[in-house]
Amino acid sequence: MEKQKMALATKMLIALVLGIALGFGLQVVAPIGATNIIRTHFIDGVLFFVGELFLNGIFMIVVPLIFVSLVVGITSIPDPKKVGRIGGKLAGIYILSTFPAIGAAMFFGTVLNPARGVTEESIAAFAIEPTIGTPPGVYQILINIVPRNPFAALSTGQTLQVIFIAVAIALAINAIGEAAQPLRRLFVSTNEVIMKVTSVVMSFAPYGVFALLARTFSMLGLDAIVALIGFVLVVWLALAFHLVFIYGGALKLLVGKNPHTGKSLSLAMLFKKTSPALTFAFSSASSAATLPVTMRCARNLGFSRELASIGLPMGVTLNMDGTAIFQGVAAVFLASFLGIHLSAGDIITILITATMATLGAAGVPGAGMIMLSMVLMSIGIPIGAIAFIFGIDRIVDMPRTAINVFGDIIYSFIVGKQEGMIDWAQYSAPTDLASLDAMLAKEDEAALAAMGGGGQS
Ligand code: ASP
Repeated sequence: MEKQKMALATKMLIALVLGIALGFGLQVVAPIGATNIIRTHFIDGVLFFVGELFLNGIFMIVVPLIFVSLVVGITSIPDPKKVGRIGGKLAGIYILSTFPAIGAAMFFGTVLNPARGVTEESIAAFAIEPTIGTPPGVYQILINIVPRNPFAALSTGQTLQVIFIAVAIALAINAIGEAAQPLRRLFVSTNEVIMKVTSVVMSFAPYGVFALLARTFSMLGLDAIVALIGFVLVVWLALAFHLVFIYGGALKLLVGKNPHTGKSLSLAMLFKKTSPALTFAFSSASSAATLPVTMRCARNLGFSRELASIGLPMGVTLNMDGTAIFQGVAAVFLASFLGIHLSAGDIITILITATMATLGAAGVPGAGMIMLSMVLMSIGIPIGAIAFIFGIDRIVDMPRTAINVFGDIIYSFIVGKQEGMIDWAQYSAPTDLASLDAMLAKEDEAALAAMGGGGQS
């Protein structure tokens, strides 16, 4: 069993490396822009088919998963005070942590000034005019949290709205008590089905990851990356800094030791147990699509069912440190490139609007770039400037999405530790996704049986 579980994580890492290598290799035989048989039938044929099919399969699960797991999570904590406390802590840490992320990003952007030496001519060749609609205003983002039409929210995948509906329904179920138990039972049973579908879809993950990465890297203009290498490196550096110092520091300060073994917690252990989610986030550039994988990895890390089902769906929309870091570096880079001086007031404006922008950004590829226009507008940088970095977005979207996902896990872990919602024996246990699946299924059955719903069969 253990072999099987190790195999999925390892297979995904191998797929990641091979996919990237093949992608770059393909640029040699099928240069970007050229139409030849390899690009038409292999890159835009086979690879496209496998990658998109897999992504569709996983996206299919996301909205029902967010909705159902939040309802199940909240209704399994009948004490409204406890729900409020956990939800409040999670929302607080998710939103407040955005500030140091943007702060550090602007610091690196200003000190290392990647715009130095970049000329308009050198990058104009790769500028792509983005099709960007008008970004929503700050008030609109807040108003939009409450959907006029809950069915439209679910069918179009508006995650903030879906979270709102789920919380409202769950609190109502808790308030009603006995009479609402049949509905709760339905949610628990649906949750079990979604988990089953997830585990089937996930068994195709290595192939999906391989195809997605090979195609992405076969299309990333190396010339454009070279022209903007300073920008790319500063974003990567700021992300790495955040990972090591903010996440690593928060873990040390706020979690400390594993009470089960008495050993200090290490980022490396969290990395190891969450590597399928991080690999998937990197390949798909979508933290929403990664949610089913994130939830499984989190359970493997010892998250209680309630913690995983409340903390992680909330994190998908409320927590995007990676995106905030990208926006901070991009704002400073574009201002410097256009010769616009940023005042202290501008910097505060960036801090606030980028935080709002990450709240409004969906966890899908390129969302951070679209919301960047809101940040730029707030400090008077023409939105058209985005054209200069648009073409290389993917190469910074992939790592920032992985950081977004890792942040959801770290912050939920911290809150979970404080609330006694971590199973430390599971945390210390060797990674074993196959037995994890069995454990999850048993839990759902037990929950159904406890409700007298005949979930034993
Ligand atoms: N792709 C990111 C995510 O899914 C959002 C972004 O574009 O920054 O988390």
